[in-house]
Amino acid sequence: MARKVADCRQFPSEKPCTLTIAGEEEEVLRAATEHAVSYHGDKDTPELRNEIRKTLKDEQPPKQMRQTG
Ligand SMILES: [Zn+2]
Repeated sequence: MARKVADCRQFPSEKPCTLTIAGEEEEVLRAATEHAVSYHGDKDTPELRNEIRKTLKDEQPPKQMRQTG
């Protein structure tokens, strides 16, 4: 199962934050949005979710798994 990683260091923010969230894309998106709202004071908007989605990285797969796509 492909998991995504959101690294809060990649978000421009006045509050330094090193939080990393990993999970399935929708889970990461939800958790990262809640974190951005509750901690960073961002607004929960489609734009914010788009920004978060753009920064998602694939979790490093184990070596025996082949990357497709
Ligand atoms: Zn953060």
